[in-house]
Amino acid sequence: MRIILLGPPGAGKGTQAEKLAAHLNIPKISTGDMLRAAVSEGTDLGRQAQEYMDSGKLVPDAVIIDLVENRVSAPDCKNGCLLDGFPRTLVQAKALDRAGIDLDYVVELVVDDEEIVQRMSGRLSHPGSGRSYHKIFNPPKVEWVDDITGDPLVQREDDKEETVRHRLHVYHKQTAPMVEFYRGLSTDCPKFVEVQGVGKVDEVFERILSELNI
Ligand code: ADP
Ligand code: ADP
Repeated sequence: MRIILLGPPGAGKGTQAEKLAAHLNIPKISTGDMLRAAVSEGTDLGRQAQEYMDSGKLVPDAVIIDLVENRVSAPDCKNGCLLDGFPRTLVQAKALDRAGIDLDYVVELVVDDEEIVQRMSGRLSHPGSGRSYHKIFNPPKVEWVDDITGDPLVQREDDKEETVRHRLHVYHKQTAPMVEFYRGLSTDCPKFVEVQGVGKVDEVFERILSELNI
């Protein structure tokens, strides 16, 4: 089963991807997490990506496409995978198609901009895994501590309100046309489903599951 999760920054993609990947027993592939790991390791990729990420711009398509094509051909993806945060442009979506990486579902999480700005001000992230929490809506068991590893949590540099607003602008300009592309496909595969991302995390998860034929 191959699924992509789409939606604006802060829609809850990472939160739902973690639950869904565990439920389906397939790996979660998050381009944002892969890029942040590259930045913290100081690799060539990290050096290329950092400036774009810090200012809330998209990393160039060619860099991202290479990264994802390599990752999805790894052995752990042979039974499928869940893509979180990729594709984000029409060029990326078409590259996925050209590479013969077929999809079963495209799930769009819908949340409005003001709710997102509010959410992002409370997001806490675990740098090692990409797990995210929220100070009020989805708190860790112990304040500022990851539930699974016990590592400290951080607030992402790009979650400042000004950068979040810029990322939302980038989303509406560069990613929304790609969502329209998937929405408009007349084939059954991939099946496009739209899910409201507002409400409790578990309620949103149930909504997603009810749309998938599993
Ligand atoms: P969020 O989950 O809040 O949407 P991500 O962690 O997915 O944010 O992405 C953080 C940053 O990484 C983006 O602002 C962008 O700079 C870069 N990035 C991640 N995925 C992609 C992608 N598919 N194409 C281009 N840039 C990307
Ligand atoms: P994305 O990967 O789409 O950027 P995240 O999964 O990191 O989004 O979620 C963004 C923030 O919103 C996090 O702080 C997360 O804990 C919180 N969040 C996720 N789902 C919900 C929800 N249903 N209601 C309220 N807050 C949520």
